[in-house]
Amino acid sequence: RQDAPSDILSRVRARAGRSIDATFGDDAPLARALLIADQRQIPTEMRDRYAAAGLIHMLSISGLHVAVIAAAIELFFQVARMSRRVSLYGAFIVTAIYVAIIGAPPPALRSSAMLGAAMASRIWQRPTSPWAAWAIGAFVPLYQPRTALDVGYQLSVLGMCALVAAGVVWRRHLANRLGGWKGKVGRELVTSLIACAVTAPLVAWVFGRVSLIAPLSNLIAAPIITLAQPVLFLALLAAPITALAHFFAQAVHPLLFAFDWVAWAAASTPGAAITVATTLTTAILAAVAAVSLVVACAGRFPARPAITGLAALAAMVVLPAFPSSPNGQVELHVLDVGQGDAILLRTNAGHWVLLDAGPAWQGGDAGRATVLPYILHRGGTLEAFVLSHPHTDHVGGAASVLTAMRPHAYWDAAFAGGSEAYIASLAAARKQGIEWHRVHPGDSIRVDGVTIGFLAPDSAWTVGLKDPNLASTIALVRYGMVRFLLVGDAERAEEDWLLAKHRGDLRAQVLKVGHHGSSTSSSDAFLDAVHPEVAVISVGAGNKYGHPSNDVLYALSRAGAEVLRTDQAGTVIVRTDGIHIEVEAKGDRWELVPDSLWRLWESESSFPRR
Ligand SMILES: [Zn+2]
Ligand SMILES: [Zn+2]
Repeated sequence: RQDAPSDILSRVRARAGRSIDATFGDDAPLARALLIADQRQIPTEMRDRYAAAGLIHMLSISGLHVAVIAAAIELFFQVARMSRRVSLYGAFIVTAIYVAIIGAPPPALRSSAMLGAAMASRIWQRPTSPWAAWAIGAFVPLYQPRTALDVGYQLSVLGMCALVAAGVVWRRHLANRLGGWKGKVGRELVTSLIACAVTAPLVAWVFGRVSLIAPLSNLIAAPIITLAQPVLFLALLAAPITALAHFFAQAVHPLLFAFDWVAWAAASTPGAAITVATTLTTAILAAVAAVSLVVACAGRFPARPAITGLAALAAMVVLPAFPSSPNGQVELHVLDVGQGDAILLRTNAGHWVLLDAGPAWQGGDAGRATVLPYILHRGGTLEAFVLSHPHTDHVGGAASVLTAMRPHAYWDAAFAGGSEAYIASLAAARKQGIEWHRVHPGDSIRVDGVTIGFLAPDSAWTVGLKDPNLASTIALVRYGMVRFLLVGDAERAEEDWLLAKHRGDLRAQVLKVGHHGSSTSSSDAFLDAVHPEVAVISVGAGNKYGHPSNDVLYALSRAGAEVLRTDQAGTVIVRTDGIHIEVEAKGDRWELVPDSLWRLWESESSFPRR
C-alpha cells in the first residue's frame, strides 16, 4: 500500500521529535515546541507562566520563527557564495519543506505565504506594499477554511497587521526624532506595544486574561528567540551527527534558559496579568478599540478613529457597573469535560458554585480548558468550590480554577490521601487565602436563594474506608420546590448508608448519576428513594471503563427518569424558577411536567405509572 504524503510527513515529524528528546535533555519540551510545533510536553505551570508573561504566542511556531529560519537559510546560502537569486529560491524551498514537516500550523503557513510574496517581489524587483503581503498571508483560509477558526492563525494575522501598522507609525511620526540605538529600541517598543494592544481582545476572549507586562516581556524575549531559533534549527539538521547536534544544543541552552527566565521574571512581577471576565459585548468593544487603534496609527486622518477607539474603551470601563440582569432562574450546568465531573450551579443573581472541576491530563486540565472559559464568557463570580472526592477526574481542574477565580470557600470531604491534583488544589487554595471547610452531614451553604445541603460523608462512616468513591460528598441543592441531588462517585455501600440515615431527604427531580453510570452504583432501592425525573450522566465518549453500564441505563429508565449523557448531549443545563423545570441539551429546550401534577395523576389513575 502506498503511503499518503501526510503519513510520511508525520513520520518525519515523529522522528524529529525523538532526536530532539535525545539531543536536548531538559530543554526538550521547549525545543519541541519551538522546532516542530509540539507543545504536548510543556507542563501546565510552564504554559501558565508564559500566558501571564504575555509570551504564550512564542511557544507556538509563529510567523517570527519561520521568518527567522528563512533569513538564516538565506544568509547561509549567501555565505556559501550562491547567487542572490539562488539564495532566495533555496531559502524559500527549504522553509516550505520545514513548514510541511512540522504539520503546517496555520501561523507558519500564513507567514510562509507572506514570505513567498515578499521574496517574489524581491526577485522581480517590484516594490510591494507591506499591506499587500499581509493580505496574501491572511488569505490562507481560502484554500484551508478551517484555518480561520485557529487561534494561533488569528493571533498571527493580528500580530502581523500590528507590525505593519507600527512600521507606518514609526516612519510617519518618530523615525526622524530618534536615531541610533534609541531609534532601534524605540521602534521595537512601539511595535511591541501596538502588537499587544491589537491582540489583547482576542487573548482575553480565549484565555480569560490580559498580560499587562507583555509589551516589555516581548521586547526582551523577541531578540533572544531570534538568536535561538537558527541554532535550534541547526541542531535539528545536525541530528545524524550526534556530537555536532549536542554541540548546537549546548550552545543554545543559555538562550533557552534566558528565554524561560524572562517568562518567569515577567510572570512573577506583581500585577503582571489581570483575569478578565470577557462577555461578548466587552470583546466586541475591545475589538473595535483595537481596530480603531490600527486605523488611527496607519491612516492619514487619525482623529476620527482615535475618538471611536476611546469611546469603545470608555464603554468597556463603564459597562461592568451594570451587572447582567438576573433572570430569577437557578441553573445547573453539567459540563461536558470528557471522562470526569464538573458541575456549575448558577444562582438567580448570577453567582456560581463549582462542584468538582473535571479531569487533568498531560499538559492541561479541564479547569483551564473548559470551566474557566465557561464562567468567564457568562460573567459573574465564583462563590465556592465543592469537591466530591479526590480522584483526578474530579479534582484535576481545581487548582487552575481556584487560582484564577478565588472563591471564598473550598468544601471537601477530606478523605485522607489523594492524587497529585488534589494536593495541588489544596496548595492553590492556601496560596489564594481560600477558606477550607470539611464537609459534615447537616452542613449547608446558602448562596443567594439557593441552599446546598450536605448529606454525607459522615466521619464515623469514612474511618474504615479504602476507596475515596465511597466517601463522596453528597450534595442536595434546593431552590423553591425543586431539588437536584449530586452524588459524586458514590457506590452501592454509600447509597445503602444514605438509605439507612437519610431516606426521606433523597427525593429529587434531577439526579447527577453516581460514578459516571457505572454498575457499582444506582441500586434499585436508591433510585426508588430519589425518584428522579431527569438523570444526567457525566461521562467521556468511548471511555476505557465502559461507563455507563447498560444495567444502570435500564434501571434509570425503569425508574421513569429521562436519561441525558454528556458524551451524547454535550453540556446539559437544567433551569428552574423554583417550580418549573426546563432542560437544555443538544440545542433543544423542553419543560418538564411538574412533579406534583404527576403525583396527582398517579393517585387519580388506576394504571400503574410505570
Ligand atoms: Zn469519577
Ligand atoms: Zn472516583
